[in-house]
Amino acid sequence: MIKHDVVIVGSGLAGMRAALETCKGLDVAILTKVYPTRSHSGAAQGGIAASLGSTESDSWEEHMYDTVKGGDFLSDQDAVEEYVKAAPKVIYELEHLGCIFSRTPDGKIAQRHFGGHSKPRACFAADRTGHAILHALHEQILKEGKSVKIYSEWFMHSLITEGNKCKGVVVSDIQTGAVEVIQAKSVIFCTGGYGRVCKITSNAFASTADGVMAAFNAGIPLEDAEFVQFHPSGLYRQGILFSEAARSEGGYLVNGKGERFMEKYAPSRMELAPRDIVSRAEQSEIDEGRGIDGKDYIYLDLRHLGEKKINERLPQIRQLGLDFIGVDCVTDPLPIQPTAHYSMGGIPTNKFGQVIIDDQGTPMEGFFAAGECACVSVHGANRLGTNSLLEAVVFGQRAGKAAFEYTQKASFENINEGQEKARILETFEDIFQRDGTESYNVIRNEMKEVMTSHCGVYRSAKKLEHCIETLKKLQVRYKKGKVTDRGKLFNTELYEIIELGNMLKMAEIIATCALSREESRGGHHRTDFPKRDDDKFLKHTLVYPGKDGLDIKYKPVTLGKHKPVERTY
Ligand SMILES: Cc1cc2nc3c(=O)[nH]c(=O)nc-3n(C[C@H](O)[C@H](O)[C@H](O)COP(=O)(O)OP(=O)(O)OC[C@H]3O[C@@H](n4cnc5c(N)ncnc54)[C@H](O)[C@@H]3O)c2cc1C
Repeated sequence: MIKHDVVIVGSGLAGMRAALETCKGLDVAILTKVYPTRSHSGAAQGGIAASLGSTESDSWEEHMYDTVKGGDFLSDQDAVEEYVKAAPKVIYELEHLGCIFSRTPDGKIAQRHFGGHSKPRACFAADRTGHAILHALHEQILKEGKSVKIYSEWFMHSLITEGNKCKGVVVSDIQTGAVEVIQAKSVIFCTGGYGRVCKITSNAFASTADGVMAAFNAGIPLEDAEFVQFHPSGLYRQGILFSEAARSEGGYLVNGKGERFMEKYAPSRMELAPRDIVSRAEQSEIDEGRGIDGKDYIYLDLRHLGEKKINERLPQIRQLGLDFIGVDCVTDPLPIQPTAHYSMGGIPTNKFGQVIIDDQGTPMEGFFAAGECACVSVHGANRLGTNSLLEAVVFGQRAGKAAFEYTQKASFENINEGQEKARILETFEDIFQRDGTESYNVIRNEMKEVMTSHCGVYRSAKKLEHCIETLKKLQVRYKKGKVTDRGKLFNTELYEIIELGNMLKMAEIIATCALSREESRGGHHRTDFPKRDDDKFLKHTLVYPGKDGLDIKYKPVTLGKHKPVERTY
């Protein structure tokens, strides 16, 4: 059995930051199914929020209000307050760790506007912000030498818990197929989001819900799973992201009639309204026949910005357009549509990063979570752009600190290694024995299709019921799949099948929670309940594994000085 004081699953911003916090004096392991700097954090483009006030006066109070309003008043305001207060220090700390931010002409950290933020608050490194931060953190981890062991291309399968205590994880080495138990005093999950359940998504291939499902399978509820963010500027048909930075630098959204249609939907903020509002506006234009040539996309027009500005501020966007569709945004508009982008919901935690297992705030001892897989909840029903990198760093640090303190006093708990390994080996064997005719690719595509078409920007009871029914049928077909590779070495087919199993269940959870929430709030919009209903639904969803399916409960939102008001821009 492998042993470490702390095991962190995930090497994105949250995992790396947590590791830096725990490694001083403890034996820490980071486990990641992709090479550490291939984590999805590295794809983040636009920026990381903080009220530095580089170019305009700003304050944490304004950052807080924008975040709470952007989240349609579902955020827990105690957590938001501490998080926005921490932001400026986080930026300077990242800079001192080696992250090179873009500058103003007089040498300050440059900041740009982003959707839903009332001030220019996004600190950035051109349009490669996540890349810059992730590499700076990775270098710091390498500097720590032996105190952090990285298990690169290892897969976490399940969490080992007993009662209210977490004791370790069951994992396997993707290269050899060997299954191992890691015994740990503390486990921190930083496994990222699960946008791959949708057909049109900006998320990396690794964003497949393994972490959230491992927690759920251990009896831990998931919070606010129905809130999925659709980003307004995904490349048509492919979902690849053109950062909101394109609009903050002055890009226009244009419909088939050549109109800047945001005038109708958010006259004061135009293209820089929060993402849920812009995505719905785009979808309405498309649904009402005003897409480009009447089709299901609109244009992101950057031509008026000029080549110099595009090269300086948006080089990656220009390159993505050239590489993927051969369109140069200097001379032509880019075709876009809403793309599944961010998971507001996840494993419930308190503001210290401890995982909580009920509506009373009871912690699971020795289990922590941070970043996109967790739900603190600072983003409520809709996350503002640039608030997620900040979340990953702030709560990665906090979860690391809480785990560090807990681990000092904790001891290793007994684990029945044989039994834990056997469970996962049985799962492998069960998959290898499948001799069906169903294609896993077809099942995966059908799941993605129904999630985008029936549980997407606009939802209704009718659509969601169809979606859930389809997903249940797919879960049955999943058991009758055709396996072609029964080998042990680098069996990527096996891992893709396991990921698909996790996604099918997660998709059902999202759709079921969405069906139960009979209102519209933030990223969750019901055409049959188009208004926000604070009397009935100003509360967080908690979904538990039940005896005959999913059990849905709710818990109150921690409000504060900002009382819910109508959300207009
Ligand atoms: C294209 C794109 C652009 C974005 N731009 C911005 C932006 O400009 N600003 C902003 O604030 N936010 C942005 N976001 C959101 C933000 O990047 C993410 O929410 C954030 O980086 C998540 O960080 P994380 O550490 O939680 O997880 P990730 O960076 O997603 O890392 C997840 C880690 O978990 C590991 N993992 C998962 N499952 C397993 C398993 N079973 N076994 C082992 N390891 C596992 C993976 O290997 C990976 O290391 C963007 C997102 C996308 C997709």
